[in-house]
Amino acid sequence: MRIHDLDATMDETQIALAMEGLKTMGHARFESKHRAKDGGVWPVEVSKVYLPHGGGRHYAFIRDISERYRTEEELRVAATVFDAQEAMMVTDPAGNILRVNQAFTKITGYTSAEVIGKNPRILKSQRHPPEFYVDMWRQIEREGSWQGEIWDQRKNGEVYPKWLSISCVKGKDGKVTHYVGSFADITAYKEAQDEVVSLAFYDQLTELPNRRLLLDRLGHALAVSSRNKMYGALLYIDLDHFKTINDTQGHDVGDVMLQEIARRLRLTMRDEDTIARLGGDEFVVLLEELNADQEQAAAQAKRVGNKLMDVLRAAYVLQGKEYPASFSIGIALYREPAEGGIHEILKRADMAMYEAKKAGRNTLRFFDPAMQVALENRAWLESDLRRASSEGQFILLYQKQVDNHGCLMGAETLLRWQHPERNLVGPEDFIALSEETGLILPIGQWVLKEACHRLKIWEGDASAGNLMLSVNVSAREFQQEYFVENVKRILNETGANPALLELEITESMLLNNIDDLIKKMRTLRELGVTFALDDFGTGYSSLSYLKKLPLNRLKIDQSFVQDLDKDANDEAIVQTIIQMGQTLGLEVIAEGVETRAQCAMLELYGGHNFQGYLFGKPAPIEIFEQEFANR
Ligand code: C2E
Ligand code: MG
Ligand code: MG
Repeated sequence: MRIHDLDATMDETQIALAMEGLKTMGHARFESKHRAKDGGVWPVEVSKVYLPHGGGRHYAFIRDISERYRTEEELRVAATVFDAQEAMMVTDPAGNILRVNQAFTKITGYTSAEVIGKNPRILKSQRHPPEFYVDMWRQIEREGSWQGEIWDQRKNGEVYPKWLSISCVKGKDGKVTHYVGSFADITAYKEAQDEVVSLAFYDQLTELPNRRLLLDRLGHALAVSSRNKMYGALLYIDLDHFKTINDTQGHDVGDVMLQEIARRLRLTMRDEDTIARLGGDEFVVLLEELNADQEQAAAQAKRVGNKLMDVLRAAYVLQGKEYPASFSIGIALYREPAEGGIHEILKRADMAMYEAKKAGRNTLRFFDPAMQVALENRAWLESDLRRASSEGQFILLYQKQVDNHGCLMGAETLLRWQHPERNLVGPEDFIALSEETGLILPIGQWVLKEACHRLKIWEGDASAGNLMLSVNVSAREFQQEYFVENVKRILNETGANPALLELEITESMLLNNIDDLIKKMRTLRELGVTFALDDFGTGYSSLSYLKKLPLNRLKIDQSFVQDLDKDANDEAIVQTIIQMGQTLGLEVIAEGVETRAQCAMLELYGGHNFQGYLFGKPAPIEIFEQEFANR
């Protein structure tokens, strides 16, 4: 074989150089790599001698230097590592510091001159009890190393967290020759971690657990209940009329109020109870392990609920002003097995809270299964309602409005839903839901279009040409930004006479942003559209509002008309409304007139307009139109 067959790296020039050296000096030494028979490559040191006698011979001594290479490499790595970002410290077996690196100085504040020869205990903080260090050293002795989070103190006294690894270096005899400690400052990391936890699981305003953490704890509580068979309870607490405070006093005041509520809840509840804020003005208290008996547990939950009511109800002093407050609380008991799990429990408490609101607020309600049925109904209703709009399942009924001679003046349009699998569904079963879901907007548009379309059909007809149509408009519709434009567009598109269109609004609309309401009403009035205030007498309208609103008619609510001939109070109310209407220059129409007697009394007090079963029930258009066709 030739040298080339063995040598893995040497090139021609290097060989030539080596030969030259050999010739002039008689020997050469260099490093190279050789390929072994099995193909493996080794670092080698080659020493060559040239002996001229006997025709001249080369003798080469080749030494495997892989071990040396490895050690050198390790040293190089070690040196780099030692000066890395991590702080390093090497001590002798007695714990005296022998060496530290740059990062050590940066983190601890001590220069190497200050610490060499000292014991690392100068770095200690007072955060850990002595046992902590005893355990640590026990582990180092047993396993040769220790790793963990530890709080130390910098030279300037600042206590900080670090991640520390200690390992021992042993000699051939198994005895410890050195301890090496390396550590990193994890202050920033810990802060970020705390921040992440706080953002993910806590409400930033009140520092209470948020929905996520609540659900987590509820899941845990449920698991515990399956073991100990105890009932727990979830209290859903909602501040009544928070929106009003926010809208009138500003969000700053609202925020302070929420913080104060959180403070009171914390003060009242035990440490082990979870108090959470779900957002807005909704808080939840989770009570665990109340009782194995359902009734007992309910009684306990109720006691807590009542106590919370008392504490929360006390007036709030915000920025120097005193505000009264009331709350609605819904309670759901839970115990494993809980159908539907944690979300179901939360939903139930929410529903119970909703019931408390419906019952007039400032009260407390338990979830009961009947509510469940209502909830399920709501669910199908909502999905079906979405379809109803696009599939044209709505119809309009027309109910006559007459004057005191029995002459037809017009009709109120009343909406019905022709559900594919059910009987005709009345508005009381779907209007509220469509308002909540926003579906009322397309539905309302359809009603308005339908009514205007009808007015256009009647136009020019001798008997129907001057009939008016009253259309119910819900608050949600009226509040939308483009309501006025929508009405205008529909009037334009259908070509209906605006003067024959009356919009019925309710007193609930007077509750917020009355200026906007008035502005919109005025604009529509300019087009000729008129307005009636529906269900008058049941709501909150104050006389001053009434004077401001550009109204044409008041509709006396049917509840007053119903017992007109039996109840003296109702009689007085009806009388007053009619007189008031006259004073304010408003027409008054009575709705729900069912008997001749009611009609007679209304007339007696000066009422001229009527609507009710006495004159006609809400009827489909074909039947309604027959009325005047036959005249
Ligand atoms: P409302 O505007 O006060 O309508 C009068 C309600 O009284 C109608 O109920 C009508 O059928 C009923 N009624 C009429 N005469 C009599 C009577 O002599 N005796 C009795 N007991 N009741 C009578 P309906 O049709 O069930 O509508 C209920 C409510 O639903 C309406 O009250 C109105 O607020 C709302 N609504 C109806 N249609 C619409 C609509 O197209 N849009 C909106 N936003 N709401 C509507
Ligand atoms: Mg109405
Ligand atoms: Mg009404």
